[in-house]
Amino acid sequence: MEKLLYDHIVVRYGELSTKGKNRKEFTKKLTENIRKRLLDHPSLTYKTLHDGLFIELHGEDYEVIREELKDVFGFSYFSGSIRTSTDIEEITKTALYLAQNREAKTFKIAARRSDKTYPMHSDEINRHVASAILKNTDLKVDVHDPDLMIYIVINRNEAFISDEKVRGMGGYPTGVNGRALLMLSGGIDSPVAGWYTMKRGLKIEAIHFASEPYTSAQAKEKVITLARKLSVYQNDVIIHMIPFTDLQLAIYKNCDHAYAITIMRRMMYRIADTIARNRKLIAITNGESLGQVASQTPESLSVIGEVSKTLILRPLCMLDKLEIIDVAKKIDTYETSILPFQDCCTIFDPTNSVIKPKEDKCLEQERRFNYQELVDRCVENDEMVRVSYRDEEVKENESIF
Ligand code: ATP
Ligand code: MG
Repeated sequence: MEKLLYDHIVVRYGELSTKGKNRKEFTKKLTENIRKRLLDHPSLTYKTLHDGLFIELHGEDYEVIREELKDVFGFSYFSGSIRTSTDIEEITKTALYLAQNREAKTFKIAARRSDKTYPMHSDEINRHVASAILKNTDLKVDVHDPDLMIYIVINRNEAFISDEKVRGMGGYPTGVNGRALLMLSGGIDSPVAGWYTMKRGLKIEAIHFASEPYTSAQAKEKVITLARKLSVYQNDVIIHMIPFTDLQLAIYKNCDHAYAITIMRRMMYRIADTIARNRKLIAITNGESLGQVASQTPESLSVIGEVSKTLILRPLCMLDKLEIIDVAKKIDTYETSILPFQDCCTIFDPTNSVIKPKEDKCLEQERRFNYQELVDRCVENDEMVRVSYRDEEVKENESIF
């Protein structure tokens, strides 16, 4: 099929349009996120109108941009398009050009006027354009299941003609709802949780609890790789690397082993809660899924979540492992997640873990040692790393903090 000469991309807001007062903020954030994702195409120019964003290509490669746009949350679809004047004959000529360049037997025209003062109704435009195509090609009209759809959008001063509609990822522009702290292990679940969190408009920072020397440097590398993969959706990700070993060893020494994992997870939440507040992050998010392991029974989740004042989001709570794996594959984190290097939870043996922990028992055991001091030290020793899919190497402690 011949490569068509689109000169514009029309991005349709979809769900955003219903957002009333917040709309302006949403469209601003969306434009900002799209610009960042398309940074490698400096010639592009952007124009925001009521129901869509119009990007002029200026000769940039649409095939590449099309793939990159699929990484941006917050709109329902986009179309590579050709701009014309609002003159019906020019619109018709362009639609005919598209029809003549596609291998199709049947077609349908779908016109929309965002300018209601336009002298023809949508139906009249459809009929006018269709009759020119019928006259000049062998194509037939099929309104139910056409091979070729031609979309016409008429604004006040210009029109856009397209023969495609590419699904966007939906959701909300990342960052429009604030920022959240993602508990990022090296496993399958937490990167997927991060993806869902960004999809709902929250920009993420990540926190990783590292247990060197019980876990290897490769485990950390794995987390960095995962964060970098997630950065595609929001440009960059800050990771808080927390040295967690001393606290884990203290738990191991002082607490009943059946409660070790429960208490360890309460400590993770205490640390995450403090960092979230220090960084003004609105929520903590993670890969917990109801019932998946002993520490994720409803009783466990209650007793563990109890220690955090910060809102806890669990985007995977109601998903099956296989559903989670499907998303992990789709977002390309799966292959990294299944690499063998273990994260910190493996210091403790989960087989004897209590399934229905009691809060008073946790509190009693936590009184046996000065955990607060150890928690504070973890927070103090937070090592921040910023990663981006754009960087060749990891940049440590960059000035953006
Ligand atoms: P995952 O596949 O994401 O590792 P999991 O099924 O192995 O999850 P757990 O190990 O119980 O489950 O962890 C539940 C959640 O707690 C993880 O999804 C992650 O969000 C968080 N978590 C676990 N270990 C760590 C860690 N070392 N650093 C940061 N977060 C962690
Ligand atoms: Mg895990």
